[in-house]
Amino acid sequence: MKILEIKDLVVNYGKVAALKEISLEIEEGELVAVIGSNGAGKTTTMNTISGLLSPTSGDILLNGKSICKIPAHQVAALNISHVPEGRKVFASMSVKDNLLLGAYLRIRKGEKKQVIADIDDIYSIFPRLKERENQQSGTLSGGEQQMLALGRALVSKPKLLLLDEPSMGLAPVIIDEVFKLINTIKKRGDMTIFLVEQLAYRALEVADRAYVVEQGNISLTGTGKELMTNPEVRKAYLGAGKS
Ligand code: ATP
Repeated sequence: MKILEIKDLVVNYGKVAALKEISLEIEEGELVAVIGSNGAGKTTTMNTISGLLSPTSGDILLNGKSICKIPAHQVAALNISHVPEGRKVFASMSVKDNLLLGAYLRIRKGEKKQVIADIDDIYSIFPRLKERENQQSGTLSGGEQQMLALGRALVSKPKLLLLDEPSMGLAPVIIDEVFKLINTIKKRGDMTIFLVEQLAYRALEVADRAYVVEQGNISLTGTGKELMTNPEVRKAYLGAGKS
């Protein structure tokens, strides 16, 4: 069953056309990636799904229903959680309070006990967050902040997790850890994941399927494996000769 369908989506910033009729779909339980270089339109796609931007035309369907006209705070209530580019944790709050904030809607629904259990579960996936649960989040390293941003999204128990450029600004060894965690979340199998990422190799390694976006258009699509061996993708995004 399709959880998300993007149909002929056009997004403009004033006179700048950022997305020029993009269409893509995600089946429930899949990890689908969008790769592309700087300025290709990846973040714009993400921000339009989560209601931060309004499209000029086209549609976005969640479980068959249009969500294009729904503001961002209401999209979050539809079980979509967005980990934005650059992480954006609440710097002056502790790690634990950031996690509790992620579960705000669930706590309001009276699920506090379950939320506490889920935070413990997050700590078991990300032990470093447990060690730092009372630390001010702004003092965490970039990698730890990325893990916190992921953890905060996970405690909201989304059906659809949107990950924007999780590698951004991180050292290669930390990127290894972040992608290992994304793989762990994927293997748990209870979440659909939509990932946009400039580091094509990392994204294709973990993705079931992927789309290549170039200057606001989708130029190629296939399984992660297919795209990894596609000569055009290898030349443009994986570095010539990289195996
Ligand atoms: P990156 O990996 O560098 O973040 P991206 O693929 O996420 O790139 P977008 O941020 O979606 O790309 O940008 C797509 C296009 O829209 C670019 O040409 C960019 O310059 C333009 N753009 C993005 N945000 C704005 C804005 N607020 N105002 C005007 N143009 C914008």
